[in-house]
Amino acid sequence: MGETRTVYTMDTVMNLTAYGENASAALDAAEETLRTLDAKLDRHDETSTVSALNRDGTVEDAELAQLTDIAQTIGALSGGAFDPTVAPVMDAWDFTGDAPRVPSDEELSALLAHVGLEKLSVDGNTIALSDGAQLDLGGIAKGYAADLLRAQLEKEGVTSATLDLGGDVFVMGRKTDGSDWRIAVKDPGDTESYLGIVSASDAFIVTSGVYERYFEENGVRYHHILDPKTGCPAESGLVSVTVLCENGAWADALSTACFVLGPDGALALRDDLADQGTDFELILVTDDGRVIYTDGLADAFTPNDESGYTYEALA
Ligand code: ADP
Ligand code: MG
Repeated sequence: MGETRTVYTMDTVMNLTAYGENASAALDAAEETLRTLDAKLDRHDETSTVSALNRDGTVEDAELAQLTDIAQTIGALSGGAFDPTVAPVMDAWDFTGDAPRVPSDEELSALLAHVGLEKLSVDGNTIALSDGAQLDLGGIAKGYAADLLRAQLEKEGVTSATLDLGGDVFVMGRKTDGSDWRIAVKDPGDTESYLGIVSASDAFIVTSGVYERYFEENGVRYHHILDPKTGCPAESGLVSVTVLCENGAWADALSTACFVLGPDGALALRDDLADQGTDFELILVTDDGRVIYTDGLADAFTPNDESGYTYEALA
């Protein structure tokens, strides 16, 4: 049996399991790492480094600069579909607050004047914002946290573990019996059910879906992944995107980006990145009940035949 920890941090419930002699100490250290990172990145905590940046317009921090640089890179690669400056628009919707609401068009266009990758710059260890922009790393933070924990667990001598950081999953090594881990991908229409199972080892499996955080008003569901071009919840024809890749921060940001881009844009981004030497796999769920998955998952993904979806394996 492994050691487990349930940690509530970064606005989500995380379940960490590790196997082997050092599991317990390693998980204690992992929990500490998560809390330290949250204290740095939480923009609703006024003592965080991100809050200092958002208040002062500039801050120096090597780790934050490195993470912001990745966020910016993926932002540019996705043509702005991923944009870590959407914060003011997120706040207006207040998805996770007590009074979520639909902002007016005027309000959104005023806020969008402060949004844009060009308002964010990283120079060495210094990050700077211009034009009243605010940084929000919510679309990449959990994946980055998974990267940190992976490195830390490796250093502590752990070779077998599963980390579920609220939908951002990392599976380390293999199960103690030597077989691959099996990760269920949730059905976005019924989170009690699942779309299929991914078999993997040493991989990050990250899902962005409409069901994670949303509110309803007059029968319309408003979810928390925004299209930075409109300031509104992305309506791209997708209800869920799962990314499988070797890097957590990338998996996390790419899942958000692909969600905004829609099926064609997501597959085009995958081709572009493959040409540059970055491979990732996708499971896309469309709003008309199709599950499209990429060729690298042909053997690794087993559809759930009882889910009611139509499955399309890309060649
Ligand atoms: P989850 O929080 O469910 O894991 P995501 O990883 O997709 O989902 O991240 C959603 C979070 O990312 C939002 O809560 C918000 O902080 C931020 N966000 C929303 N839309 C975007 C976007 N287009 N680009 C970058 N970050 C975004
Ligand atoms: Mg994400």
